[in-house]
Formats: sequence, structure tokens, C-alpha cells
Amino acid sequence: MNTASAATVPFRPDEAFALDLDAQDPLRRYREQFLIPPHADGTPLIYFCGHSLGLQPRAVRGLIEQELDDWARLGVEGHFRGRTPWYEYHEQFRESGARLVGGLPSEVVLMNSLTVNLHLLLATFYRPAGRRRKLLIDEPAFPSDLYAAQTHLVQRGLDPAEALLTVGPRPGEHLLRTEDVEAMLQRHGDEIAVVLLNGVNFLTGQWLDMERLTGAAQARGGVVGYDLAHAAGNVPLRLHDWGADFAAWCSYKYLNSGPGAVAGCFVHERHGRNLALPRLAGWWGTDPATRFRLHEQRAFVPREGADGWQVSNPPILALAPLRAALALFDEAGMPALRAKSERLTGYLEYLLDRLPAGRFEVITPRDPARRGCALSVLVREGGRGLVAVLEREGVVCDFREPDVIRVAPVPLYNTFHEVWRFAQVLARQVAVKLPQT
Ligand SMILES: *Cc1c(COP(=O)(O)O)cnc(C)c1O
Repeated sequence: MNTASAATVPFRPDEAFALDLDAQDPLRRYREQFLIPPHADGTPLIYFCGHSLGLQPRAVRGLIEQELDDWARLGVEGHFRGRTPWYEYHEQFRESGARLVGGLPSEVVLMNSLTVNLHLLLATFYRPAGRRRKLLIDEPAFPSDLYAAQTHLVQRGLDPAEALLTVGPRPGEHLLRTEDVEAMLQRHGDEIAVVLLNGVNFLTGQWLDMERLTGAAQARGGVVGYDLAHAAGNVPLRLHDWGADFAAWCSYKYLNSGPGAVAGCFVHERHGRNLALPRLAGWWGTDPATRFRLHEQRAFVPREGADGWQVSNPPILALAPLRAALALFDEAGMPALRAKSERLTGYLEYLLDRLPAGRFEVITPRDPARRGCALSVLVREGGRGLVAVLEREGVVCDFREPDVIRVAPVPLYNTFHEVWRFAQVLARQVAVKLPQT
């Protein structure tokens, strides 16, 4: 097979084909940049859990140590005289963050954690007034998003049972239909203050048609925000062009920045320029040139752009891993990562489709344009047991009650051969008779 055809040649089920795809993979050297946890026998695990916690880039440890050393050497002077001065430390991520979500650099800031950012953004953008008081979210909803939405309603004295609208898959279906969201907006659009949607759904892996839905909600006068927990670093995004009002994402899933890593926040520039927007303020949201006037600066004047939503000075030790993690995205580039991702997940889908029908069903959209790298597989019987078997065989994926396993081969560190080996484990399981329960 030559390189030109490697990206399009039809899949074959044999092992040699998988190895060949790896040999042709222009991104294969990135795997070495990661620490891959070992299985009991010392061989690397097949790690398909990047949707939950991405692996550690090798460069992370050195970057954390650099900040520990600067702290030891310089104390408070590290804010201005460190090798990477802490005072403007977070600003180095602006460009990389903006590239990941398709925002302007001024529209993006890395801060806090995902749910905290959603709260800060809802504090600004959820402004119930007159008839327009409702919040619309998509199902299946991640609990944290649901709690955030419910408590914002309660904060404003509204009853979630009445003011929280949800739109989800039809009975008997797994995926949300774009036209059903549009119908909901048609019916209730003038009562909805904010639409909060998941870019890529955490459970089904469905990538919503964000451009179309953003337009549909805004046409009815609503504000549209996105939770990009499963979208950032997974699918190409164009938040600025699509006109999304706000968004937040975490950095520990596809962005490989470590457990509880510092999250992202996007505010469209048309709002970023509006300094009169109400918000929950702290000193880090002000102009860095005047911030140290301290008690002489009584009035809060936000900085322009997403920066104006910052509250506290950022945790430098927690930000350090992002330097390593985002550099890999900058270097490889989303177009190349996405090209490999479509191929890798397409190969997984191809191998799953060859298994005898009945036991497994891929519920993630079949259209590559409507999904990221993860496939959610509905397991008809014995899902939990299957995850235990996979674990024994050295495969890490996860199980979501009641019957879905999520499998995410990521383009930065997974291989076609790992996908092939995973499919072999499943094929052996299909051959095994299930215990009667
Ligand atoms: C992972 C995830 C979260 C996690 O929220 P944190 O604030 O980072 O703990 C929230 N929402 C969705 C949809 C997620 O997938």
C-alpha cells in the first residue's frame, strides 16, 4: 500500500492490514510522547479511555518541576522573574486554546474547572426576564450540567420543574434529532433565555450539528452555550464563525492535561467587548496593568474578552501540564489528528460490524461527520462482565449504566493494531456462552 492510498484504501480484517495502517500513519511518533500504563504482564495497556482521562505526556513532569524549582529559588519573585513568569502564565495558552475551539485568541481563557466555568457563564448569560425565563438542555445530560442548570433556576427563584426544558432522543432511539431540537425552539423559543447543549454527547458520542442549532436558537432570540467536555481536542470546532455565545470544556479528557486539569472558557467577542455585562467578579478579571493598585481600585472594571470572566489568580502547578499537552495539539494540528481519528474509529466500526449480530450495537452516529473518536457500544447482555473481561485482557474502556461501554481510540497515542486486538477480544467473547442470570 502506498502513502497516497493509505487514507482511503478499503479496510481488511487481517492483522497484517492493521500493522500496515500503523506503519503508514504519519502521526505514529506521537505515541512515544505519552506514558502508557502497563498491564499486569508489563506490556502497555490498550488505553481506550481518553474520553475520561487522557494519558500523561512525558514532558509534563519536567514542566511541573520547573515551577517547583522556581518557587524554591525565587519565592514571590517567581511571579515576574520565573523562567515562565506566573503573572502572565495563563496567557501562553490563549492561542492554543483558541485554535482548539475555533475562537479568536481574545475569546478564550483557561481557568477553573468545567462546571465552575459553566456557573460563571450562566451567571452572565442566563438573565430571565418577562416571558423569556426558561433554560433548555439536551438529554442525555451529564449530572453536573443538570445540577448547574437546576441551581441557576433556583437561584433566580424559579422552579426547575417548570423552567427547565429538556430535549432528548425519541422513545426507542438513542440519538437526538436536529429537527426535534428545532421543533422545540419553534414551540418554546420565545420563552427560552439560554440553550445549553453538549457539543459531543458524553454517553452516545453524538456530535450535534452545532452550526445549525446555534443559528436556530439565536433566530428565536435565545443565547446558546456549549459544554465541550467531549468535543475539545476531539472534533474540529469553529465557535467564532458559528456564532456560539459561550462555551466551557475540561482539559483532562481528550486534552491530556491531567486529573482535574484547568478548564477552558469561550466568550464570543460581541459579548467580550460589552464591559457592562453583569458577572461574578474577582481581581483577575481586571486589567493586569492596574491590578496591583489593590485597595485604590474600588470599582471592578473587567478586562475586554474572555479574560474579564477570570476570578482568581491561576494555579500554576495545575497549569504546567497544559504546556506539554497543548503543544502536542499545536504540533500535530487538528486537521491531521481528525483525519487519523476518522480512519481509526472507522476501522473500529468496521471490525465491530463484522461480529455476529445481536450482542453488540454501536449507538454512536454512523456518519463520521456526526461523531468524534469514541464509539458507544450497547451490550445486550453482561455489559459489566464484559468490561471485567476486557480489563483482564489489558483493555481499558468504561461502562455506563445500564448497558453502554464507551471505547475511544484517540489519534495521538492509539494504534490501528490496538483496535484490531480489541476486536479480537470481543470476537472471543461472542463465542463464549453467557452464564444464565
Ligand atoms: C466530564 C464532564 C463534566 C465534568 O465536570 P467537571 O467540572 O470537570 O468535574 C461535566 N460535563 C460533561 C458533559 C462531562 O462530560
